[in-house]
Amino acid sequence: MKFVYDFAEGNKDLKDLLGGKGANLAEMTNLGLPVPPGFTITTEACQQFLSAGTHVDGLAAEIDEHLATLESAMGRRLGDPDDPLLVSVRSGAKFSMPGMMETVLNVGLNDDSVAGLSRQAGGNDRFAWDSYRRLIQMFGKTVCEVPGHEFEDALHQAKVAKGVQDDVQLDAADLRALVSAYKKVFAKHTGHDFPQDPREQLDQAVEAVFGSWNADRAVLYRRQERIPTDLGTAVNVVAMVFGNLGADSGTGVAFTRDPATGEQGVYGDYLSDAQGEDVVAGIRNTLSLADLERLDKRSYDELMQIMATLEGHYRDLCDIEFTIERGKLWMLQTRVGKRTAAAAFTIAAQLVDEGVIDLDEALNRVTGAQLGQLMFPRFDLAGSPDSLTRGIGASPGAAYGQVVFTSQQAVEVAASGAPVILVRRETNPDDLPGMIAANGILTSRGGKTSHAAVVARGMGKTCVCGADEMVVSATSFAIGSHTVREGDMISIDGTSGRVYPGEVPVRPSEVVQYFEGDLDPARANDPLVAAVHRILTHADGKRRLNVRTNADTGTDAARARRFGAQGIGLCRTEHMFLGDRRELVERLILARDETERNAALSALQPLQRADFLDIFREMNGLPVTIRLIDPPLHEFLPSLEELAVKVAVQREHGRRVEHDEQLLAAVRRMHEQNPMLGLRGVRLGLVIPGLFAMQVRAIAEAAVALAAEGGNPRPEIMVPLVGAVQELETVRTEAERIIAEIVGSSGVEILIGTMIEVPRAALTAGQIAEAAEFFSFGTNDLTQMAWGFSRDDVEGAFFWRYLELGIFGISPFESIDTDGVGRLIRIAAEEGRAARPGLKLGVCGEHGGDPDSVHFFHEVGLDYVSCSPFRVPIARLEAGRAAV
Ligand code: PEP
Ligand code: MG
Repeated sequence: MKFVYDFAEGNKDLKDLLGGKGANLAEMTNLGLPVPPGFTITTEACQQFLSAGTHVDGLAAEIDEHLATLESAMGRRLGDPDDPLLVSVRSGAKFSMPGMMETVLNVGLNDDSVAGLSRQAGGNDRFAWDSYRRLIQMFGKTVCEVPGHEFEDALHQAKVAKGVQDDVQLDAADLRALVSAYKKVFAKHTGHDFPQDPREQLDQAVEAVFGSWNADRAVLYRRQERIPTDLGTAVNVVAMVFGNLGADSGTGVAFTRDPATGEQGVYGDYLSDAQGEDVVAGIRNTLSLADLERLDKRSYDELMQIMATLEGHYRDLCDIEFTIERGKLWMLQTRVGKRTAAAAFTIAAQLVDEGVIDLDEALNRVTGAQLGQLMFPRFDLAGSPDSLTRGIGASPGAAYGQVVFTSQQAVEVAASGAPVILVRRETNPDDLPGMIAANGILTSRGGKTSHAAVVARGMGKTCVCGADEMVVSATSFAIGSHTVREGDMISIDGTSGRVYPGEVPVRPSEVVQYFEGDLDPARANDPLVAAVHRILTHADGKRRLNVRTNADTGTDAARARRFGAQGIGLCRTEHMFLGDRRELVERLILARDETERNAALSALQPLQRADFLDIFREMNGLPVTIRLIDPPLHEFLPSLEELAVKVAVQREHGRRVEHDEQLLAAVRRMHEQNPMLGLRGVRLGLVIPGLFAMQVRAIAEAAVALAAEGGNPRPEIMVPLVGAVQELETVRTEAERIIAEIVGSSGVEILIGTMIEVPRAALTAGQIAEAAEFFSFGTNDLTQMAWGFSRDDVEGAFFWRYLELGIFGISPFESIDTDGVGRLIRIAAEEGRAARPGLKLGVCGEHGGDPDSVHFFHEVGLDYVSCSPFRVPIARLEAGRAAV
């Protein structure tokens, strides 16, 4: 197995093996762009290292060979005392994990080569000693787990001793003394001296980067971003170039288009006389690329040309990291850049207009999750107080919450249910748990490319950064004379960058307004709305899956139709039994004989008929699947505990209330240990005479009524929780009789089908299809029963541990478990269709609106998915993406 690739040997398609950074460095090298020479150690080497826990056979020899090539390309040897080659050792996984893993810079420096480095830098001792102290600090923290604050304390003491504020005010002698102090810190914690052998430094740094794949924050980030746990990281060993060699040097990050809005034109941050992660860390406020043009026109022009080349080559927005070393530009990284949801749609449409990509590709460049983000509301500023300050809108959205100042506080306060805004000077990777818990993030430093901005955009979380008027302390922040304390409410706007006191009301998104058909005419030409319209229309043209909605009222049905629903896939009729109708259900349950029961059912029937008529009208011409009542009837009765107490109190006062006594007896009689596996679904229909018949009659009558008005009702009656064909046949026989009676010659056609939500139904689908005109997979119950997980209890109880252990990467109630539950669906689809060609297949569990699951349902060959009204556009988009 080959473990090491020279940059010239790789290309952008080898991300699995070389990681994103390595693959793209190779691509840039082969494009002839100025990339410092180097090589990449593969993710396979990392995987072997992590599974064996010790070094990988053959790796050292390959590194020797590639190091020799690198040394001859540079004309320098690693750590040579007279003229040292220094290298950076950088992580780079297949999927970008900004700041989550480790990097060690300046590898190759030691007590001897520091003098050689100074000579290379034209006698710049200060630079050489500063580089050396950075190496000991980074190596100590990353490789040997020396607590970082010990180095920071030593640096702080050096500044105090000299009476200065800023690192740059320390001279060569101060930094040399600091190196001694750092070495002591290192020896105290590790029990040995800082390694002087450059090759030993390199090997240890490589292994530490491998190991950082499993750092807590990396594990957490992967879980959040659904990145598989076993990929491992590649390691890039790159000849060092220095952005901290004076005013003609610097380092920067840039995007070929604005990653927040998608606006055309380059966007970037630059810091002169700075190294490595200084820009991304948001430690100093940055300059713009326009400033760079003034400072160094030649490098700027070359950078612009390279960015145009990269965008042309990758046919997409690219982000890059670059360094200028004494007027010479070097490219340190590029990749297809992360962007906000709005930018993703806008850029995809722009690229179509520019003739760079076609609409199929544009469709593949946006996701349902991004469309979902665009459907969030934003602030309604009319009548709101003036903003406190303005930072950089780094990740859009409107968020308000209580101010907290630490990641831990954010987690704690959010756990109590309160919305939280995490306020920091700048964030670092350790703040990740707090960033996940918070509604929004506000920082006083850093640009759109800072850690906070990059991570927040990735999570779709509102973020304002670089609000540099804010003075942040431990428990408050001040803007001029105004102080905001821990626990105070603030609101932040991730688009405009404004920060407001208190809780600002929010207004709907224009994308939702567009779906609703009530977009303000002034915004009709909004590029984002136009892009969404164009891409979604294309998705509609491509998709094979129909998209229906789960709706129980005319209002929901109408809204879903505006969102593009092509019918109703699930109307849960039990929702029509709530509110003041509960009493009628009570009467049904308490009925002592057939007369009382029929009276209760007759009272319910006209109400149901009116409900159905309302829905059929809104969905005129489209199929409407109505599910007969599913949950156990005692869900409509008061709780056993409450009622028992009430009756006990009544009895104690010598006052027996007959209704309550009867109710209590009924509740006791109907009590079940496992109600989800008890008397519900089709079982109710078979046990309670007249219940399903009443519903079927109401459906048929409503349909006939609409047909009489000239409408086109298309009802589909769905029987829940069927496990055996005999259950369905029994219900069907009675339903057909009633339908025939009512429908007569009205022309109304009513299909009868079943849910497939009990594993036995999936496994006997061939038999069940004989009695069903359609199947709708109830993946909520199917998941519950296939795994044996109580859908109402597990999420809080133990799923966190399952996620932590990687038993699954995401809850199977959220995204379909393709191997297990998915297999049941496949079997049922195949055997059902074999028994009844043309059998209509759909899904109405929560998974119907989950992007990954939609792709699975497309692949299995279902006819439609059904989901909540708000997820209808998301499902349309994903169904289109699945088809191209
Ligand atoms: C299901 O089980 O997936 C389903 C749609 O039914 P309910 O959620 O109402 O049980
Ligand atoms: Mg169900």
